[in-house]
Amino acid sequence: MIKTRFAPSPTGYLHLGGLRTALFNYLYARKVGGKVVLRIEDTDQQRQVEGAVDNLMETFDKMGIGFDEGPRQGGECGPYFQSQRLSVYQEQIRRLLDSGHAYPCFCSPERLKKVREERAAQKFNTPYDRHCLNLPRREALDRMQDQPHVIRMKIPQDRIVRFYDIVRDAVEFNCADIDDQVLIKTDGFPTYHFANVVDDHLMGISHVIRGEEWLPSTPKHILLYEYCGWKAPKFAHLPLLLNPDRSKLSKRQGDVAVEVYLQKGYLPEALNNYVALLGWAPGNDREMFSLDQLEKAFSLKGLQKSGAVFDVEKLKWMNGHYLRELPLKQIARLAEPRFLQAGIDISDKTKYLQVVDDARRRISILDEILDFSNMFYEVPAVQGEHRLFIDDGTSRELFIFWKDKLNEMTNPDTEAIKALIRETTDELGITGKNLYWPLRIALYGSPHGPDLPTLIGILGREETIRRLELQMNKA
Ligand code: GLU
Repeated sequence: MIKTRFAPSPTGYLHLGGLRTALFNYLYARKVGGKVVLRIEDTDQQRQVEGAVDNLMETFDKMGIGFDEGPRQGGECGPYFQSQRLSVYQEQIRRLLDSGHAYPCFCSPERLKKVREERAAQKFNTPYDRHCLNLPRREALDRMQDQPHVIRMKIPQDRIVRFYDIVRDAVEFNCADIDDQVLIKTDGFPTYHFANVVDDHLMGISHVIRGEEWLPSTPKHILLYEYCGWKAPKFAHLPLLLNPDRSKLSKRQGDVAVEVYLQKGYLPEALNNYVALLGWAPGNDREMFSLDQLEKAFSLKGLQKSGAVFDVEKLKWMNGHYLRELPLKQIARLAEPRFLQAGIDISDKTKYLQVVDDARRRISILDEILDFSNMFYEVPAVQGEHRLFIDDGTSRELFIFWKDKLNEMTNPDTEAIKALIRETTDELGITGKNLYWPLRIALYGSPHGPDLPTLIGILGREETIRRLELQMNKA
C-alpha cells in the first residue's frame, strides 16, 4: 500500500511551501490509489500556537484537500498528534538505549554552549564533543533516575550514508559532519527526527515527500531506520520555493500564508493549480489543471530539481482565468461578503449576477471586484477631462436623443441598443469615440468598460435615463 503523509509543525498558518508539500502528498496518494495521512508534529512545547491546528484544517477544507487516516474524533478522521503518542517514542528509545545506538547526555546548557564555541573556533563540523558517550553504563543508568538529561543517537564516525532520492537521485553524506543528534529532550519529548522516523515506520508510510530543507536530516533518519531494524521509506525532496530574485521564499518579500491569499480573493482552484506547478511539470506545456485533473496527471517523475520561483503575477493571471471560467454563481457567492461589507444592496439577484459577470472579466483577484461594480449601484463621479468630454455640445445632443429614444423603447435589449447606435449615426452623424465615450462616461464613469448593450442591460432603462439626465443637468 502506498501511503504518504503531510507532517506540519503547528506554527499557526499554512505556508505556501506547506501547501505544495501537502498537495503533492495528496496528489500522489490519489493518483496511485493510496492513502495520505495528516500528522501534527507538535513535540516542541515552546512553539505551540493556540488554534493553529483548527486554522490548518479550515484552510485545507477551503482548498478541497482531504486526508484519509487518523484517530477517530467525533466520527471524523482526525489528524495524528505526536504529543499524544509519547509512550510510543519512550518504548522505542529504550530499545536504542539497550542496543547502544543511543546514550544519555547530562551536559549542562552552559557546557554545551562553551564546547560549541570552542569547536566552532577550531573548525570542527559538529558542535558536540561526545563527552557523555563513554560514561560507564551503570553510572549512566543511575544518573538517568534523577538528573536532567537528553538522549542522543550515536553517529558512526567513519561512514558515508548513501541513499536514493526520487528527485535528486544518489545522495551521500559523510557521518563525520553529523552531530550526535538529540532524540529525546530534557522534558521527555522526542525531537522532530526521532518522532518523525518512529511514526513514519509505525504508520506504514511508503513515500516521504517533503521540502529540500529536510535533505540534510535524511542521513540521520536513514541511520535511525537501520538502528531500529526497519526498512526506510522512499524519499522525494522537493526543490526550494524562491522569490523572483531567487532568494528563499520568505515573509519579508510578500505574503506566504495561504490564508492571506484566500482572504484577498485568490481562488482555491487557482492556488492549487499554480502551486502544483512549483517543482512539478506535467511533461507537456499544459498549464491549467483542476484538482481532479491534477490527481490524474501527477507523477513523481515530473518532480524537478531546480528551485521554483513563486511569481505572484503569474498566480494573479491564473486566478483571473479561474474567475472567468468558474460557474458565475460560485463567484457571486464568494464575492457577496465584499458587497455586503461595503453596504451595497444586492437584493436584486438578477442585477447582482449581471454585475458580477461583467466585473469578473475585468479583475484578477476578488479584492478588485468592487472597483468594477460600484458604478452599477451608485452614479459614478465624472471629473477632469471626462467631464469636459461630456459637457461638450455634441454630447448634449446625443444624450437628449438617447433619452427620448429610450423613453419610447419597450424592451432595450441588445438588438434594440444596436439599432439605436445605427440610428444615432444616421440621424445625428455621431459615430465612434464621439458616440461611445460620452455615453460610457455618463453611465459608467469611464470610457472603457462593458459595451453599451451590456451596460444598459445591467442598469435598466429607468436608471440609464436618470443618469443621462443627471449629467445633462450638470453640464
Ligand atoms: N515537522 C516537519 C515540518 O514542520 C516535517 C518534515 C518532514 O516532512 O519530515 O515540516
